[in-house]
Amino acid sequence: MESASPDDCSVKVAVHIRPLIGDERIQGCKDCVTVVSGKPQVQIGSHSFTFDHVYGSSGSPSTAMYEDCAAPLVDGLFQGYNATVLAYGQTGSGKTYTMGTGCGDSSQTGIVPQVMNSLFSKIETLKEHIEFQIHVSFIEIHKEEVQDLLDPSIINNKSEVGKVAHVPGKPPIQIRETSNGVITLAGSTEVSVTTLKEMAACLDQGSVSRATGSTNMNNQSSRSHAIFTITVEQMRKINTESPENGPYNGSLKEEYLCAKLHLVDLAGSERAKRTGSDGMRFKEGVHINKGLLALGNVISALGDEKKRKDGAHVPYRDSKLTRLLQDSLGGNSRTVMIACISPADINAEETLNTLKYANRAR
Ligand code: ADP
Ligand code: MG
Repeated sequence: MESASPDDCSVKVAVHIRPLIGDERIQGCKDCVTVVSGKPQVQIGSHSFTFDHVYGSSGSPSTAMYEDCAAPLVDGLFQGYNATVLAYGQTGSGKTYTMGTGCGDSSQTGIVPQVMNSLFSKIETLKEHIEFQIHVSFIEIHKEEVQDLLDPSIINNKSEVGKVAHVPGKPPIQIRETSNGVITLAGSTEVSVTTLKEMAACLDQGSVSRATGSTNMNNQSSRSHAIFTITVEQMRKINTESPENGPYNGSLKEEYLCAKLHLVDLAGSERAKRTGSDGMRFKEGVHINKGLLALGNVISALGDEKKRKDGAHVPYRDSKLTRLLQDSLGGNSRTVMIACISPADINAEETLNTLKYANRAR
């Protein structure tokens, strides 16, 4: 087994193991996941995997997880580096809890609320010398279609259960690439925010849009990727007065930096068991989420040092998800994947799949 070499990996991988929850306890499930003491190593059955970090269900991992996984990315934003945090795992494994993008109990301890807090406290200390402009967008990718969770008309328009209503006459959101490789979303709502409160309101609004219509395990939110994006623009005025420049002529040089952080609550990684219209059960694995498949391939291509040196093709264009994240995965950007798992024996098969997927990312 290979051990972690955090510094030269383009993608860091952490595992977050949630505790057994109500239903699992009632069913008498056993805990089948072991963390090797003092190591970022997880064991299930005869399999053993080592990651950059492992967070178990005991203690208070939320601050440690934020500090290890997200804080360096927030720092990088101020230096102009794009970044992505991805929560991966089967439905019910704790992705939304980990990100803190749900409407419930992790709305303070999750990654996103902590990112927002720390972002605004940093801005507070810097704003005397730097002018900031902050934007957020919140979108969902469902069946390879991009939907705007911040569209002001969604909440009222969401009539069809489990489907974000399309506003009549509104063109579909398109992913575009500028000539210098910057990915933009044309047609989605970009909200300019100046305070933590305003940003939190956007997160809430999008979370509500996403949750509306969720009725069961197979709801849309378990099959879609939700992407909350924070864009930080900085304008720094530098006084050019210096001995070499001659006497001060009143000119100021402006330095501009722009970077974005994508916080992604991925679709459930379980392979949907599709039922045909005649009730015939298709084989498990017939339907695999296109975005998750492409993401695995992209991350694996990025992590493969040899392929990278040979300038191998990174298949960003294989899905909307990877296309949207293209300028924030690989290159100078920083990526963290948090693989979320349930410890329950009934989920052992999916948990093993998740650990294998996450292991491939390293
Ligand atoms: P997912 O988004 O992957 O479908 P959720 O985040 O909705 O999963 O989590 C499923 C359930 O487990 C929720 O009831 C949630 O509150 C609970 N849960 C998830 N992670 C934890 C955790 N670390 N500690 C306590 N409860 C958790
Ligand atoms: Mg969820």
